[in-house]
Amino acid sequence: MYKETIEQASEYLRLILPLMTKYKVPPHPTNYAVWYEYATKKNKALTDEIDQKINRMENFTEEVNHKLYQHHLITLTPKQTNKIRDKLQSIFNELLNTLSNKDGEYLSYTTILEEAAENLVENLNPTVLRKTIIQILDETQHIKNSNNELKRQLELASKELIVLRTEFERVKNEATKDPLTNLFNRKAFDDALSLAIKAAQQTQSNLSLLMIDIDHFKKINDSFGHLIGDEVLKVVAAIIKKNTKTNDITARYGGEEFAVILPSTDINQAILFAETVRQRLNAQEIKRKSTMDNIGKISVSIGVTKFNANTDSIDSFIRRADNALYEAKQAGRNKVIEK
Ligand code: GH3
Ligand code: MG
Ligand code: MG
Repeated sequence: MYKETIEQASEYLRLILPLMTKYKVPPHPTNYAVWYEYATKKNKALTDEIDQKINRMENFTEEVNHKLYQHHLITLTPKQTNKIRDKLQSIFNELLNTLSNKDGEYLSYTTILEEAAENLVENLNPTVLRKTIIQILDETQHIKNSNNELKRQLELASKELIVLRTEFERVKNEATKDPLTNLFNRKAFDDALSLAIKAAQQTQSNLSLLMIDIDHFKKINDSFGHLIGDEVLKVVAAIIKKNTKTNDITARYGGEEFAVILPSTDINQAILFAETVRQRLNAQEIKRKSTMDNIGKISVSIGVTKFNANTDSIDSFIRRADNALYEAKQAGRNKVIEK
């Protein structure tokens, strides 16, 4: 994963430690991994998020640090991928072995039957007949046993494959999902957006993007506490997700900010979708289940934009959606602005 020489890595060390001290980040291994990525500037999403936090003078609390690590650094490692591949290979090899054994056995079985048939024609006497019958019986029993063995192997293999598939999905899920909201995380969003852009270019189809930010979310945390804040994030995520279609990608873009990629969607449909989300969110009072405390109405501001295949890069596309969101905030919040 890291290709730096000792000298380069030590240079980074000299750069990173003062940074971590400055922002009061304890230099334990996971935090160091985050700031290593930051110093090498290879991970754009991570660098942007940290820069944003620095600009806003946010504190790097243990929770923030943990989230940075979770969002940006957990992916399928080559080791995990190799492990799954090797296991698959060994299952297939085992099956192939059993099958080829069986083929071999079938071959000798047919040869024996053929020889027996010849014997029966040439020397038809009771001794030979009896010997032949016993031999055929033996062989048939043998084939039957090896068929049972094959069945057992197949059952075993399919059980192992099911376990493997579940394991693979769990690892994949961990790597692409935000644990709080279960939406796609920032890394998965970046990957999905690149793919969506390629697809839109290839098929010359529409592609729209939404940036959604909860209004005055800090107040919710301040008034009701961080845990309730988390619950609100989950509710907002669920409402956004509920209004999307199968091919849309809904992601947690940052703390209380969400992004939705809308393939095959023109700007008018995208605005309509954004308005629906904004209104549905604003239509209900959020209550605390346990105490029925009223958290009140929440609102979101949304920036919407359409991909321009002739002029856009992935960055300019995101920037325009971000600018639209910024304008929605400036215009008084609880608004959808298109750019
Ligand atoms: P604005 O309308 O301008 O967006 O105001 P805001 O208060 O929503 O925006 P600001 O960026 O000032 O504050 C965002 C807050 O979101 C600050 C941060 O503590 C909180 N936040 C970020 N991630 C989480 C999280 O995972 N859980 C909780 N509870 N709060 C979070
Ligand atoms: Mg906000
Ligand atoms: Mg925000």
